[in-house]
Amino acid sequence: MRSLPYFCRGKVIRGFGRGSKELGIPTANFPESVVDSLPADISTGIYYGWARVNNGDIHKMVMSIGWNPYYKNTKKSMETHVIYNFKEDFYGQILSVAMVGYIRPEKGFQSLDELISAIQSDVEEAKRKLDLPEHLKLKEDNFFKTSISTTPNQIMNGHRL
Ligand code: ADP
Ligand code: MG
Repeated sequence: MRSLPYFCRGKVIRGFGRGSKELGIPTANFPESVVDSLPADISTGIYYGWARVNNGDIHKMVMSIGWNPYYKNTKKSMETHVIYNFKEDFYGQILSVAMVGYIRPEKGFQSLDELISAIQSDVEEAKRKLDLPEHLKLKEDNFFKTSISTTPNQIMNGHRL
């Protein structure tokens, strides 16, 4: 995928509430504006990369890009699971992500257990891959150095900001 790494930023909105939090894998949803500006060659599936909530620390993440059942599968959704144990929800805060690599396409699962173990192996793969020097350096990208509070309305998407 030519568009990787891909950097984007947006306010965390409420999702469909499909209970991902109950499964231990909450996913922070991006608004439509962010999803709609994805380049055409970013296909649906599971990605790994870096994430930051407001001006907080930068953590590893896995992201699912898929078809949103709320919109009868006519709209894509982008859902980020940050690999970090937050004490509180962060709805309404600004999430910045660098999508670094692709793990796998979307797939259907026979059971909840199967789904959960697939996500756990995605998380393990993300953790391993992000420790590679070429991926670690993206954590230091200028994209993550901009202070959100000084640019509250500046929500941009693209390769380099
Ligand atoms: P929703 O359907 O509203 O997206 P989820 O069950 O997927 O509900 O929970 C997502 C919310 O949980 C996020 O919007 C965020 O506020 C919160 N959250 C807490 N910890 C995390 C985390 N590690 N990664 C992503 N979201 C988290
Ligand atoms: Mg969610």
